[in-house]
Amino acid sequence: MTIKTTVLVTGASGFIAKHIVRELLENDYAVKATVRSDRGQEQLVALFPDAGIEFVRVDLLEEKGWDEAMLGVDVLMHTASPFPEIDPKDPQDLIAPAVQGTLRALRAAQKAGVKRVVLTSSCAAIYKDSAKPPLERSTRANWTDPDGQATSAYEASKTLAERAAWDFVAEHPEMKLTTINPGGVFGVPMDEHYGTSLGYAERILNGTDPAYPSMALPIVDVRDVARMHVAALTHDTAGQRFPANAGTMSMIEMARVLKAAYPDRKIPTRQAPDFLVKAMALFVPLMRTIASNLGRNLDVDASDGPRVLGFTYIPSRDALLASAEFLAARSTTPAEKS
Ligand code: NDP
Repeated sequence: MTIKTTVLVTGASGFIAKHIVRELLENDYAVKATVRSDRGQEQLVALFPDAGIEFVRVDLLEEKGWDEAMLGVDVLMHTASPFPEIDPKDPQDLIAPAVQGTLRALRAAQKAGVKRVVLTSSCAAIYKDSAKPPLERSTRANWTDPDGQATSAYEASKTLAERAAWDFVAEHPEMKLTTINPGGVFGVPMDEHYGTSLGYAERILNGTDPAYPSMALPIVDVRDVARMHVAALTHDTAGQRFPANAGTMSMIEMARVLKAAYPDRKIPTRQAPDFLVKAMALFVPLMRTIASNLGRNLDVDASDGPRVLGFTYIPSRDALLASAEFLAARSTTPAEKS
C-alpha cells in the first residue's frame, strides 16, 4: 500500500478551498481540513462523502486546535482569510485574522515539522505598489503598500499576511513556501456557498448598477487557481510567488459579454464618469473600494504560472460566463423577482 501525502487545507469550506480539496483528491492526496463550524464541515462531507477527510475546528483568531490540525500532516495549504464584499470600518477586523491566522498556521506547522507550505495570497498584495507608476502593469516583484491611501483594508490584510509568511520562513529556512496570488476569481462554485467572489458577476447579471466605473480587474478561473495550488507541490516553486491572472476585463467589457449571453436581462453597459463614482464613494461603502481603483492599472503579469506549472489559463471571458451560467440557473431575472 502506498502512503499518501496528507495536505491540511485551512478554511476548507471556502469557494476556492473546495476546488483545491477536489483537485487534491483527484491527484491522490489525503486531505485534512480545518473549518470553523458544523455548517462548513457538512458542506464538505456533502461534496466529498467518501473521501475520508479528517476535520479539525480552528479559528484564525484563537490558539485552540492548531496543534491538533497539524498531526499527521505533510503539507500546509493555508487559504483561510476573511474576504468580505465591503471593507469593515475598522481595518483590523480583516488584518488581525489574516496576519495572526497566517502566523498561527505557520507556527503550528513549524512545531510539527511540516516543511512545505502553499499560501493563498492575492494580486491585491501586488498591484498597489506605491513605488510603481499607477498605470504600469505589475509583476510578482511588486508589493502593495499596506499604508497607501488607495489601499483597502482587504488589500492591506492580504499584503501584511503574505509579508508575515515570507518573514516567518526567512527565520525558519527549513520551511519551503510558495504563494499563489489570484486576481478576481470566477468560474463555477462547487455548491451554493460561494462567499463574495462572484459578486461583480452577480451585480452585472442582475442589472444592479445603472453604470460601471472605468476599472479593469485581473481575472482567473477557480479551476486554474486550484490547479496551481496543487501543481506547486510537484514543480520547482519553493520561494516563489505565482500571480494567477488570465487577463484583465473592464467592468464594461464584462457587462457587454453578459448582455450578449443573456439578451433577455436588463444589463446596462454604460460607463460611469469618475467624478460620479468618487461622489458616490462618500456615501456608498462598495463605491469607496471601487473609487480607490480609478486611474490604476490592476493588471499583473501572471505568465510564470503556465510556464513553470505547465497549464494554459481558462480565458477570463469563459471564467466569467461560467459564473454567470451558474448564477443565472438559480436566480430569476430582477423583473421576475419583483
Ligand atoms: P471564502 O469567503 O469563500 O473563503 C474564506 C474562508 O476563510 C472560509 O472557509 C472561511 O470560513 C475562512 N475564514 C474566514 N475568517 C476566518 C476565521 N476568523 N477563522 C477561520 N476561518 C476563517 O473566500 P474565497 O474562497 O474566495 O477566498 C479564499 C482565499 O483566497 C482567501 O485567502 C482570499 O483572500 C483569497 N483570494 C480570493 C480571491 C477571490 O476573488 N475569491 C482573489 C484572491 C485571493 P467560513 O466558511 O466559516 O466563513
